[in-house]
Amino acid sequence: MAEIEKPLPQISPLTQPFWEAAANKRLIIQRCSNCGVFVWCPHPSCTECGSDQLEWKPVSGHGTVFSFTIIRHVLERRGRGFENDVPYIVAWIDLDEGPRFCSNVVNCPVDKITIGMPVEVVFEETGGGIFLPKFRPR
Ligand SMILES: [Zn+2]
Repeated sequence: MAEIEKPLPQISPLTQPFWEAAANKRLIIQRCSNCGVFVWCPHPSCTECGSDQLEWKPVSGHGTVFSFTIIRHVLERRGRGFENDVPYIVAWIDLDEGPRFCSNVVNCPVDKITIGMPVEVVFEETGGGIFLPKFRPR
């Protein structure tokens, strides 16, 4: 039976700028030129005012942990590829610029993570030119 590898992002024309920036270790988020809000996840139009005038803007990569969970067991086939990572942290990160971002917190023992912990982005190479934004304590 073939081993199932970790799923990777499906890159679309909409999300391609994000992944190109990530491959250069830059975090960019869409910002609405009409009302000024940052929009995440990528959208064709602003989630606040509906404008289609969205521009990709670099953000600091700094944020704080809003909430988290610790994955200690991997169940069923869909989890394969992650079994060597347990225990690991999945967290909602509130970026300093506003958007709430779901990712892993890395370089952090699972018993040390706290809500409100300051974190910064790091980029994890997955192969195939795709770099995943993750966060570490700062
Ligand atoms: Zn807007």
